[in-house]
Amino acid sequence: MKKKLSLFFVLTILLFTYSYAQPGRWQQHVNYNMNVDVDVNANLINGIQKLEYTNNSPDKLNKVYFHLYWNAFQPGSEMDVRSRELGKILVNGRPDWDSRVTDRISKLAPNEIGYQKIKSLKLNGVEQPLKYHGTILEVNLTKPILPKSKVIFDLVFEAQVPVQIRRSGRDNEEGIRYSMSQWYPKICEYDYEGWHPAQYVAREFYGVWGDYDVTIKIDKSYKLGGTGVLLNANEIGWGYDKPGTPLKNITSEKRSWHFVGKNVHDFVWAADPGYEHIVRKQNGVVLNVIYKKVDSLQKSWERVADAAVTVLPYMEKRFGKYAYPQYSFIQGGDGGMEYPMATLIKGPSLGTVFHEWMHSWYQMMLATNENQYPWMDEGFTSWAEGEVSAFYDEKMGLKSSEKLPLNHAGAYNGYYYLVKQNLDEPLTTFSDHYNTNFGYSINSYSKGEIFLEQLGYIVGTDVRDKIMLEYYKLWRFKHPNASDFMKVAQDVSGVQLDWYKEYWVNTTKTIDYGIDSLWEENGVSKVRLKRIGQMPMPVDLELTFKDGTKELHYVPTDLMLGDKPAENKEKRFVHEEWNWTNPTYVLEFKHPLNEVVEVEIDPTKRMADVDQKNNLLKLNW
Ligand SMILES: [Zn+2]
Repeated sequence: MKKKLSLFFVLTILLFTYSYAQPGRWQQHVNYNMNVDVDVNANLINGIQKLEYTNNSPDKLNKVYFHLYWNAFQPGSEMDVRSRELGKILVNGRPDWDSRVTDRISKLAPNEIGYQKIKSLKLNGVEQPLKYHGTILEVNLTKPILPKSKVIFDLVFEAQVPVQIRRSGRDNEEGIRYSMSQWYPKICEYDYEGWHPAQYVAREFYGVWGDYDVTIKIDKSYKLGGTGVLLNANEIGWGYDKPGTPLKNITSEKRSWHFVGKNVHDFVWAADPGYEHIVRKQNGVVLNVIYKKVDSLQKSWERVADAAVTVLPYMEKRFGKYAYPQYSFIQGGDGGMEYPMATLIKGPSLGTVFHEWMHSWYQMMLATNENQYPWMDEGFTSWAEGEVSAFYDEKMGLKSSEKLPLNHAGAYNGYYYLVKQNLDEPLTTFSDHYNTNFGYSINSYSKGEIFLEQLGYIVGTDVRDKIMLEYYKLWRFKHPNASDFMKVAQDVSGVQLDWYKEYWVNTTKTIDYGIDSLWEENGVSKVRLKRIGQMPMPVDLELTFKDGTKELHYVPTDLMLGDKPAENKEKRFVHEEWNWTNPTYVLEFKHPLNEVVEVEIDPTKRMADVDQKNNLLKLNW
C-alpha cells in the first residue's frame, strides 16, 4: 500500500511539475534618465535625456531610430492625411475616421500643434547626424554599437504640448490640463526581426523594457500621476506618502516630481491643479485613482478604487501575477489608453477600467508588437476584460451567473456583422494598414477576443486557462509573437493547433456547420452533419430527448490528432474524427429516433458559426 502510494505521488509530481523550456529570445535594454521643465503658460517642455542603451543582440547596429510621436499633430502629417482619407469612406452611413481626430489636425494653428525637436543628440559624447521622417528620427551613427555593448545617448529636446486630439495633449474634453503620453524622444525597438520604426499614424506601440527615472518640474499648483513610483513622496505629500495627506506647501514657483518605473517599456504622466487622489492597497500593490473632482461623479471614482481592490486577486489567479508595485487610474486622454503602471481614462467606467488594466498583462508584461499583432493585445485584453467583468458582476450580485459565451457575445455579434459587411481582413494585417478603422477595430478587438473564447471550445475551458497562465509564465518580458502563443497552446493541450491559427489568423475563411438530415436505419439513429464554411472545426452536438435528458456528442477534427477533454459532468460520447476533406459526416447514436426532440450544434455558442439557422433542429413527433 505504502509503495503503491509513493509511486502514485511520484507520477503525480512528474505530471504536475513538468514544464517547457524557457525561450531564450534576447531583449535590448534601456535606462532612461530624464529631467524636464514644464512651462504651463507656453505649453512647452524642455528636457534632457540620458539614455543608457544595451545592445544585447548579436548584431552590430550602424543606425538607430527614435519615435517623435507628437510630430503627428501637425497639418499634413500621416495621422492627419490618413484620418481625412478614411473620412471619405462610409461604413454604415458614417465616415470611417476616428471621431476624435476627424480633420482637426489639419486646422491646428502653430501654437496648437505638437512637436518634438531635438536640439542635440550625442552618442558617447559625440554629436550625431539626424534625419527626420515625420514621427521617426533616423540616426546614422558615427560609430556602430557593437553586439553585447552599452552606449550612452545624451539628448536635449523641446516639445510643444498639442491641443488634445488623440491620446496626448493639453486641455482635453474633461478639462484635464496635461495628458502626457508619447511625450519624449523614445528609441524604437530592435528585436530578432530587426528595427521596428513604425510611423505614428493612428496606433502602434512597441517599446524596449528598462528603467525610467523621470523628474518633472512644473508649476507648484499642479498635481501629478504617472508611471512608476513617486520617489519624493514625503516632499509632495498628497496621499503619496500617507493616504489622505494634503499637497505640501513650498515657497518656490515650481515643484519637482520624481518618478521611477522599473522594467517598463514606456512612461506616461498627467497633470492638473484640480486633481484628487484616492489610494488603496491590494495584494501588495498600491492602487491610485487620480481624477478631477466633479461632485456627481465622486461616488463613481470611489467605486473604481473599490472595484480595483475586488478584482486584482482574480486577475492574478487567472492571468498571472501583476509584476509592478503600483498602478494608477488617471483621468485624462480621450477614452481609455494603456501605459505601463498607469492608464489614462476619460471617466469612471468600470468596463474601461478593467480593460485598460488588463493591458498590463498583454501590452506591458507580454507586450507583443502591437503593430504586427494588434489582436494579441487588444483581442486578448478584451477577452480578459470580459472574464473580469463577469467575475465582478457576479461577485457584486449584479447579474446571475450566465453561460460563458454570453460574456463575449458582443464580440461574436460584432464579428458576424463584420463578415456580413465584407470588411473582414486577415488578422495578420498591420494595425494601421487595415482598409478601414471599423475593420481594424472588429478584427483586432472582437476577432481576437473570439480567438481565445473559441480556443476554449476547441481544447476545453480548463486547458485554455492553463495555456493562458503558461503563456504568461514563459513569455512575459519577451515580446512573444503569434507562433510563440500557438506553441504554448499545443504543448499544454497536447493537440495540434497550427490549422486553427492558419484559418483564423492568416485568412478570412469562415465557419459554417449545419444539420443536414436525420434518419433511422436498421434500428440505428443517424444524423448527417455538413461543413458548409471553408474553415474546419471539431463539432459538439447536443441531443435533447422527450424525457428532457440531454446527451453531448463530440466529433473531433482529424487536424487536431486528439480530443478535447470532457468539459463538465454531462454524459459525452466521443466519435471517430472527421477528416476535414470530407464535406459531410454521419454520426450514430443509440436512442430511438422518435425520442429525439432537439439536435443542436455547439449549444455553448462558442464556435463562431456565421450562419446559425442550420445549427438547431427541433422535431415534433
Ligand atoms: Zn485596449
